[in-house]
Amino acid sequence: SLSDRLTSTFKNLRGKGRLSEADVDATVREIRRALLDADVAVPVVREFTAHVKERALGEEVSGALNPGQQVVKIVNDELVNILGGETRRIKLAKNPPTVIMLAGLQGAGKTTLAGKLSKWFKGQGHSPLLVAADLQRPNAVTQLQVNGQRAGVPVFAPHPGVQSEFDSVTGDPVAVARDGIAEARQKLYDVVIVDTAGRLGVDAEMMQQAADIRAAINPDEVLFVIDAMIGQDAVNTAQAFNEGVNFTGVVLSKLDGDARGGAALSVASVTGKPVMFASTGENLDDFEIFHPDRMANRILDMGDILTLIEQAEKSWDKGEAERMAQKFADQEDFTLDDFLAQMQQIRKMGSMKKMLMMMPGAANMRQQLENFDEREIDRVEAIVRSMTPHERVAPKILNGSRRARIAKGSGVHVSEVNGLLERFGQAQKMMKKMAQGGGIPGMPGVAG
Ligand code: GDP
Ligand code: MG
Repeated sequence: SLSDRLTSTFKNLRGKGRLSEADVDATVREIRRALLDADVAVPVVREFTAHVKERALGEEVSGALNPGQQVVKIVNDELVNILGGETRRIKLAKNPPTVIMLAGLQGAGKTTLAGKLSKWFKGQGHSPLLVAADLQRPNAVTQLQVNGQRAGVPVFAPHPGVQSEFDSVTGDPVAVARDGIAEARQKLYDVVIVDTAGRLGVDAEMMQQAADIRAAINPDEVLFVIDAMIGQDAVNTAQAFNEGVNFTGVVLSKLDGDARGGAALSVASVTGKPVMFASTGENLDDFEIFHPDRMANRILDMGDILTLIEQAEKSWDKGEAERMAQKFADQEDFTLDDFLAQMQQIRKMGSMKKMLMMMPGAANMRQQLENFDEREIDRVEAIVRSMTPHERVAPKILNGSRRARIAKGSGVHVSEVNGLLERFGQAQKMMKKMAQGGGIPGMPGVAG
């Protein structure tokens, strides 16, 4: 990882007192590259590295750390700082309801987030109310109602059919928002989440509307929702919304995609506002409290994780897959020995499990990685080794008594032998498909 690389670069400098400018420059170059790789906006990278350099040059090298570790620590501290320091929670109002307003560009994920937040609050014993103050798009209200239904949370909307004396029929989003709060007060909802309209680009009229809603309802939190994939554009959008509605916190959405997290740093850096939540999928449960320290780690390790994944894909691809394809081209059978070889291949990737798990780009592998268990491979190995060479190439002959013998020999329960043979059968099928030119159908052999 970047942190390992930085640490080892300066291993020899232990106890030198202050870091030299040349030492620090070398480090800062690595950091700059890692941040740009993570999609942090260029001006933010510039400011950040300048700041780190200044701090690194000014500090004594502490006894416990070597100079490289020290710089890593400084970088990490600074990243965490910019991202908001401690994990920041929603501030609940002393006198309920707590009012939370959402703002952001169209498509950023506000309406989805409204559903997620409401479900989350409900799960914590609150009684939330959703307010549909996006009257811009024809089906925006319906979309919120669908989310509300999924979350089991009522929606206040300017629609006939909603039973409320505050039912707003005006089509004025400010009035709807205000009436929604009144409804919550009267019916004792303790959290109100107000969805608002966005545009595709920053737009004066939309911003004015958002500012008007804010002024009318005086929210406890204004959450700015931003698509993490927006990359370098994050800075301008965030600045515009910060000036327009003066938000109190940031929600990064779509962190499940290929987003590298740089937007978090960019937005937090230019606005000074903390990132509070991460949205990680289209389902209402794909929602996390944002932890600055974890994101700092992710950014610090980014460059090399990408490389690792490439390597993992390459070695899998070129090594096993091609060998298997060749075997099938030669009309050879896929045997239990091959199966074992594959499991060992996966073991190599398994040692990277933790890092891979942090990678949004590894989303398609995540389920398999989660089910991955080192010990499973040891068991498979023991079982296969308890088979005769003939049994390994002709598993069809494995009747009950042979299975019992193998179980005994490998010290497992016979159901595990059965399970293994079942997975082997699946892998065999997959391997055949692959040989027929279907490419790599995932990672055969992984339990689950
Ligand atoms: P809004 O215009 O800001 O209200 O955005 P929406 O909530 O309507 O979301 C726009 C699109 O992005 C929808 O298709 C959502 O399903 C999708 N979306 C929202 N949040 C996420 C997320 O965290 N991950 C993914 N993959 N999609 C999301
Ligand atoms: Mg919306």
